[in-house]
Amino acid sequence: MRYLITGGAGFIGSHLAEKLLERGDQVVLLDNLSTGSMENIRHLKSSPQLEYHLDSIENRQLIAELVDESDVIVHLAAAVGVRLIVESPVRTIETNVNGTQMILEAAAKKRKLVLTASTSEVYGKSTQIPFREESDLVLGPTTKGRWSYAASKALDEFLALSYWKEKKVPVIVVRFFNTVGPRQTGRYGMVLPNFVKQALDNGTIDVYGDGKQSRCFCDVRDTVQAVIKLLDTERAIGEVINIGNTEEITIEGLAQRVKERTGSASKIAYIPYDKAYEPGFEDMMRRVPCVEKLEAITGFRPRTPLNEIIDRVASYLREKAALSARVVTGNLA
Ligand code: UDP
Repeated sequence: MRYLITGGAGFIGSHLAEKLLERGDQVVLLDNLSTGSMENIRHLKSSPQLEYHLDSIENRQLIAELVDESDVIVHLAAAVGVRLIVESPVRTIETNVNGTQMILEAAAKKRKLVLTASTSEVYGKSTQIPFREESDLVLGPTTKGRWSYAASKALDEFLALSYWKEKKVPVIVVRFFNTVGPRQTGRYGMVLPNFVKQALDNGTIDVYGDGKQSRCFCDVRDTVQAVIKLLDTERAIGEVINIGNTEEITIEGLAQRVKERTGSASKIAYIPYDKAYEPGFEDMMRRVPCVEKLEAITGFRPRTPLNEIIDRVASYLREKAALSARVVTGNLA
C-alpha cells in the first residue's frame, strides 16, 4: 500500500512512517518543516520505499497529485502546541482548516481513505471525566486565543464527517491525547520534553499554574500502533476515536517524577499562567481519555507506563546532547 502522510517529518508522522516502512509499505511524506524537521526523518531517507516533499499542505496542485498517487492519506499536518497557538492564532486557524479541506477535496475524487488527526483539546473545559467521543465539547469564549485550536480542529472533524456522510469519502477521525516520546521537541511548549531537558540540565523545572492540573501521557509507539490498527479495519470508517493512555498524573507530580527518574538536583518552580502564556489564559484541569471505543474496534489500548516513557525521553535527550557535544568538539569518530 502507498500511504501519504502530511506532516510526515513531524513527531508523530516520522514514527508512523518508520513503522509503515518497516512492514514494507510505500510512504510519501509531505511537510513544510514549520514544526517538523529533517532530523526526524534522516534515518529513513535512504529507504527506496520513501519519497518526501518539502512543501505546504496548501499547495493544491501538489496535494491533488500526491493524493491521486496514494491509497491512503494520513493527515497530520497542523499547527500544534499551545504556545504556537497563543502566539500565532491566524496561522493556526488557517493551516488547520484549509489543510484539511484541501486533503478531503482531493481525496473525494477517488474516495481515498483519509485518517485525520484531531485532539483532546476539543473536549475543552468539560468536566465529564473520562472524555468519551460522543460527549459534549465545552469550549471557552472566542476572545481567549487558546480555544481557536480546539475550534479549528472541531471544524476539521465536522468537515471530515460531512465528506463521509455526503460524499461517501471513507474517513477516520482520531483525537490524540498528550502524545510523547523521542523526537518531540519542547520548543512549542510541550511539557514532557521541557521537564526532562530542564531536569537533565539541573535547571529549574517550570510548572505552569499551581501544578494541580492533570494529564495522561501516551507513548508515541502506542499511538502509532493504534493508528495503524484503525487504518487496517473497516470498522473505524466514519468514526471519531480517542487515542491515549489512561494513567493520570498532575503536572506537579510529573515534575517530581521526572526529577526522580533522572536523578536530577533541579528545583521545581511555579510560573503563573499569565507569564507562561498570556493574560487570562485558561487551562484544562483534567484530561483523561475513555479508550473503550478504540479497544472495541482494534482490540488494542495504549499501556506503556509513564516511568518507561520518561526513561525513553531522557535517554533520547541524553544521546542528543552527547551528539551535539561531539559535534562542537569535532570529535565524531
Ligand atoms: N506545562 C508546564 N510547563 C511547561 C509546559 C507545559 O507546566 O513547560 C503545563 C501546561 O500548562 C499544561 C500541561 O503542562 O497544563 C500540559 O501542557 P502541554 O502544552 O504539554 O499540553 P496540553 O495538554 O496543554 O495540550
